[in-house]
Amino acid sequence: MRVAVIGAGLGGLLTAALLSEKGYEVEVFEKLPFFGGRFTNFNYKGYEITTGALHMIPHGSKGPLAKLLKKAGAKIEIVDSKPNGTALYRGEEIVVNRKSFPLKSRLMFGFYYLKNLFREVKLSEVESRLDDFSAKFLRAFLGWSLSVTPSQVTFSEVYPIYEATYEFGGPGIPVGGCKSVINALIEVIKSNDCKLERNTVRAIRKENFGLSVHFYRRESKKFEVVISDIGPIETCRLTELKLPELSESRGIKYSIALEEPLIDHTSVMFTLETRRICGINQVTNADPNLGKKHFLMAHQPMITSNVKFEIAEGLRDLKEILKGYKYELLAIQSFSDGWPVNRAKIGCDCKNETSIKGLYLVGDGAKGDDIEVDGIALGVERVVKKIEKEVVL
Ligand SMILES: Cc1cc2nc3c(=O)[nH]c(=O)nc-3n(C[C@H](O)[C@H](O)[C@H](O)COP(=O)(O)OP(=O)(O)OC[C@H]3O[C@@H](n4cnc5c(N)ncnc54)[C@H](O)[C@@H]3O)c2cc1C
Repeated sequence: MRVAVIGAGLGGLLTAALLSEKGYEVEVFEKLPFFGGRFTNFNYKGYEITTGALHMIPHGSKGPLAKLLKKAGAKIEIVDSKPNGTALYRGEEIVVNRKSFPLKSRLMFGFYYLKNLFREVKLSEVESRLDDFSAKFLRAFLGWSLSVTPSQVTFSEVYPIYEATYEFGGPGIPVGGCKSVINALIEVIKSNDCKLERNTVRAIRKENFGLSVHFYRRESKKFEVVISDIGPIETCRLTELKLPELSESRGIKYSIALEEPLIDHTSVMFTLETRRICGINQVTNADPNLGKKHFLMAHQPMITSNVKFEIAEGLRDLKEILKGYKYELLAIQSFSDGWPVNRAKIGCDCKNETSIKGLYLVGDGAKGDDIEVDGIALGVERVVKKIEKEVVL
């Protein structure tokens, strides 16, 4: 059974590794000169700068991605966060757990949960009724984790993430960073005699025998199943499928080298009283090899579409947070058109199946009910199960 995977991002490689383990004949096609898409890193001045992600797996070693990596035989070590997170509020760093939030806010959350059984509630409505700390934490959490503001999401969209955090725990950092996950998956794929090729796919066509994948220079190959990891919009452009209405989430990431540590744990420090920056992690606390000295990553969602203005606001925040520290700004990366933080904003993900038989979507436009790469893993799991059930080897 021949399976093509288009795009060697985390979603594509995870699917390819799982199917190759099960004996499918898989070929992966990637247009860029590197594998991993938005989940890998390159060394710059002694620091492992990422192509996207903040070197974090949302639910660490117990979450859906870790579970599937194990199933695929990909060998990864994940350092779980301790504590789950902290919040910088009124000059103090507060450990965040259920009890950190005033009782009134916890009751309010419960009230909205019940109310939500009957109707959708925008989180901005919830925010306006919370105490100052809880409201600012909510905003920072959404900005860091999902690159959205409370007015862009509903209570029911976020609730599964809240529940998953209690089930699986907080984030973890893979030793070696994002790239170690990608390399481990590539190793699995190659060890099963499956191929990874640098090639740009320009069309996918339905044929009598299955599907054909077309490349530049008029080359094409035949497959029974095609998995697309390039996002719903790009997939539709390569086929004759109708374009879905999809809004992406956008953000800006700062990579910073620091002489003296700012954070003394392996989790995220959410920043509650800033203009834009929502959180910072110091990834060298989990794996010292990720940077020559202390390595910080700060993230903000894009509130306006003016990138220059957004960066100026973010830099003003960083100047205040890092006042008195000796630091070097290694990189400022903005993530929007074609290379966003999320191809589908929370709650907007497409289904994994398409109306073309044998063509499936994976990746961050077709996630399951969880956050970032853990959501991608749930989508991949669904596709692999479906293929196993319907497509005989
Ligand atoms: C600033 C930022 C911070 C983030 N932080 C985190 C985090 O800490 N934790 C987390 O879990 N997630 C995080 N994310 C999200 C995470 O990085 C993405 O959800 C994930 O990497 C997406 O993987 P993917 O496989 O869906 O897509 P991609 O990584 O985009 O992979 C798709 C691949 O397809 C290739 N491709 C496209 N078109 C073609 C074609 N025609 N032919 C062949 N190949 C093609 C692309 O080159 C690419 O390599 C972050 C993202 C950003 C931008």
